[in-house]
Amino acid sequence: MKDQFGREVHSMRVSVTDRCNMRCFYCLSGDKLQLKPKDEILSLEEIEEVCHAGAACGINYIRFTGGEPLVRMGIIGLIETVGRIEGIRKIGLSTNASHLAEYRDALYAAGVRNLNISLDSLRTDRFAQITRGGKLKQTFEGIMAAVEHGGFTIKLNCVMMRGFNEDELPELANLTRQYPISVRFIEYMPMGQWQRELALKNMGENIADGADEEFAAFGGHHAATEFLKRTPQEQLYSIEEMKRDLGKKFELEETQDKPDGAGPARYFRIKDAKGFIGVISPVFNPFCENCNRIRLTSDGRLKSCLLHDEKYYVKKLLRAPDYSREKLAALLKEAIWNKPEKHEFSRNFDMSTVGG
Ligand code: SAM
Repeated sequence: MKDQFGREVHSMRVSVTDRCNMRCFYCLSGDKLQLKPKDEILSLEEIEEVCHAGAACGINYIRFTGGEPLVRMGIIGLIETVGRIEGIRKIGLSTNASHLAEYRDALYAAGVRNLNISLDSLRTDRFAQITRGGKLKQTFEGIMAAVEHGGFTIKLNCVMMRGFNEDELPELANLTRQYPISVRFIEYMPMGQWQRELALKNMGENIADGADEEFAAFGGHHAATEFLKRTPQEQLYSIEEMKRDLGKKFELEETQDKPDGAGPARYFRIKDAKGFIGVISPVFNPFCENCNRIRLTSDGRLKSCLLHDEKYYVKKLLRAPDYSREKLAALLKEAIWNKPEKHEFSRNFDMSTVGG
């Protein structure tokens, strides 16, 4: 259905958990102890209900996300069930790929065709710094398993941070020459002041209680805290700068072609490359006029804009004694109709609660 500004909203991003086996410092300010109690997280059946109501409002594309969706028990069954809902035509998954090698075939059989995979560095130590302990080898094996399968549209999401991983822009772009995948460079979205302070505090506490010794030992603590202490201006590396820097290394071609499910990215490619390069600019060139999605958080709030505080309490309705699917669809319609025209930039939540 269309919102009041005439945008056709047909995509829903569904966060199935706030749990994650990585703790990317730009995404998760707390540690696992601050996660929501289990009963505050939507059950699989409740998520399915919201997908049914979404389909009744014209949603045809569901992308599952997290936290890390592959750590949610029952995720494959949920995907299968949602894929059978009338009107749902496409299913995608956002993942850190650490479990992708083992889940690849089951995901394909359940109907997933689009994979968005986070990969911000190709260096083992830096990857571990960003993810606070993630193993690049595992993630890369997951990516390769998906590439070898051949049945997925694969997009790697690379959050670019000035003075942190900007030097890897050419190496990451080069993956599109080696493999038939898209690499999408995303401008880092700064955390709000409060959130940043919380992240710094949590890092301090992790180190103090010895919870993250490995992270501290390889310099992750230092690198991440130094980055977070900077002003947003010092952290941001705009897509215009990225395009300029890529142009110095590669012969770039504008392209009208796009990978399936292109979303908000603008695409071009390195001459003769197998895959596309995409740029996503939430900070300098917001793409609100083309935004076609709503989001369901793992704790049952519906957001019709990532960077807006408006919320629709789906969980409250789902658990009310007089719940009905019609009432839920009406709430979704209200959220879609009232989708804000533009996003605000006062991010005061963890991306891990929303799923990016
Ligand atoms: N665990 C899954 C994964 O790793 O893709 C899904 C969740 S993760 C929150 C989804 C996406 O959010 C990541 O690919 C990352 O690009 C994006 N994200 C999180 N925090 C961000 C930030 N501060 N700036 C830009 N993108 C961010």
